[in-house]
Amino acid sequence: MKIYKFGGAAVKNAECIRHLSSIISDEEDDLMIVVSAMGKTTNQLEEFTRMLYPDAPFEDAQYNQLYDQVVSTGELQSTRIVSAYLNHVGLTNHWMDITTVLRTDNAFRCANVDIQTSTSLLRAYLANHPAHIYVTQGFIGGTSDGLRTTLGREGSDYTAGLLAYMLDATSVTLWKDVPGVFSADPRKVKDAHLIHEMSYQEAAQLVEQGAQIVHHKTFKPLMDKHIPLIVKPFMHPEEQGTLIH
Ligand code: ASP
Ligand code: MG
Repeated sequence: MKIYKFGGAAVKNAECIRHLSSIISDEEDDLMIVVSAMGKTTNQLEEFTRMLYPDAPFEDAQYNQLYDQVVSTGELQSTRIVSAYLNHVGLTNHWMDITTVLRTDNAFRCANVDIQTSTSLLRAYLANHPAHIYVTQGFIGGTSDGLRTTLGREGSDYTAGLLAYMLDATSVTLWKDVPGVFSADPRKVKDAHLIHEMSYQEAAQLVEQGAQIVHHKTFKPLMDKHIPLIVKPFMHPEEQGTLIH
């Protein structure tokens, strides 16, 4: 099983979702596809929740609980669309509501994943719903009471890393709107160059120094199981991208 993760930019409109399907159709292995909310949907849902309770203190637990119930709908919706379109073009897949298997505590907006429980739930779910392609949500999880949670902004990369860990995946590919990982921020540093291969330590260091290429929590689960991470340009799948291992 390979994990493919597509961010919001990769599903921002119909044209992008068509292009996504062409990437999927080139893959022969079993796939777990992790998808973010479309475009800037999460920002909009965040603003919407704020408008409902403009005076709620930022740390308010009840507000954070409501935030997660609203904001998580972005991913539930985008994955429904992607799954339906892939089925429509013959890429038969199973849509999975990850909130039923990725079990977290109730620290809303930055929930912690219970890896052991989630692994059992996930493996049992897949055994009961056999498929070659699964489509599921990044960024969100669920409590034992059935409430939805979020794992922290931009957390979909982390979801991909967790799923890979729990399923002993052969690799994780993050399809991004950049050619790969650069030695420095190419917008700021003139001689920044694309790195084709690097270690997890090097990648984690770049992220620690402020590079926003991969969510920082993504590395540990992959390092623990020696699962390679590939950063690939969504618009140019023929390009090599960056292999992190
Ligand atoms: N949609 C979520 C966000 O924008 C998660 C993600 O994109 O990784 O924060
Ligand atoms: Mg996003």
